[in-house]
Amino acid sequence: MTITTLSRQNIQALTPYQSARKLGGNGTIWLNANEYPTSPEFQLSGKDLNRYPEPQPQRVVQAYANYAGVSTENVLVTRGGDEGIELIIRTFCEPRQDAILFCPPTYGMYAVSAETAGVLSKTVPLTDDFQLNLPEIKNHLNDVKVVFVCSPNNPTGNLLKQSDILDLLQITAGKAIVVVDEAYIEFCPEASVINLLKNYPHLAIIRTLSKAFALAGLRCGFVLANPELIDILSKVIAPYPIPVPSADLAEQALRPANIATVQVLTQELLSNRQWLAKALLVLHQVEKVYESEANYLLIKCQNGQAVFKALWEQGIILRDQNKTLHLQNCIRITVGTRNECERVVEAIKEVK
Ligand code: PMP
Repeated sequence: MTITTLSRQNIQALTPYQSARKLGGNGTIWLNANEYPTSPEFQLSGKDLNRYPEPQPQRVVQAYANYAGVSTENVLVTRGGDEGIELIIRTFCEPRQDAILFCPPTYGMYAVSAETAGVLSKTVPLTDDFQLNLPEIKNHLNDVKVVFVCSPNNPTGNLLKQSDILDLLQITAGKAIVVVDEAYIEFCPEASVINLLKNYPHLAIIRTLSKAFALAGLRCGFVLANPELIDILSKVIAPYPIPVPSADLAEQALRPANIATVQVLTQELLSNRQWLAKALLVLHQVEKVYESEANYLLIKCQNGQAVFKALWEQGIILRDQNKTLHLQNCIRITVGTRNECERVVEAIKEVK
């Protein structure tokens, strides 16, 4: 008997999430994790670390509630958006009995979190224009306790139609939780479904400080939902999920002056995205640049592998999507600084 064979069978069979950092690379330009390209500067306020943190740091809860325009009882602070995803699965799905449903191509952690929890995954692929296939979703709702949708969707970059999310909320009422993953919503804030919270007790929204707030290293995210749903998740979450330094910096990041700075930097990033999309479109190596509402662009190349590999070898690390459902020859490029965008374009231009 080895240690490996002692582990659960689904864990033995698990293909873990390939996080950008695990994939390695000898990068000078990192454009594979949809991070913001520069870091904000905050100072720790020098709080003592001998005591456990507050289970839910109240000043962060309050600040995020103010920012999102909801009340504090609608907010749960989590260790990144990823913890929120896992928490919802563990809270609502019976292992080996219930399922989650998601719509590939989409974010990989829904599948991995379900698998580690021993929960089945049902998939209903997005349509050709990367929208929800509602009739098929409706046909596959048996045993489904949680439906994950992502808008803007990672890795495709597009928004889901709000009318489809509304239909989804209607067909799942009383049966399943609908999670709308809004990790990238700051890049298109008007598309948030936050206004639907008041009417749908089974809606949960995932948010994060990892993207537009430029704080992926902080590991701070949020679940927004009605109090009944938040209270149930609070029973399951780890006792002290948010380290004191993270809560301290999150609170600073959510002050109005910093939110205003984030909004300015977001506009700058969006203008880089526009520049990058235009510059890529004219390259003969690039077949298609998909519309994006987020801080990354999905492109389809004549030969995606050749482009990905050539740039990798120059230390420009992009995210290969060649093996992702329906995304053969596609690459996801995080929008970096203008200089990084220029380097990407120059490098692709040289690929034979
Ligand atoms: N949702 C989506 C769609 C993401 O792309 C990510 C990060 N890659 C997350 C959630 C989780 O982000 P974090 O845990 O850093 O908040």
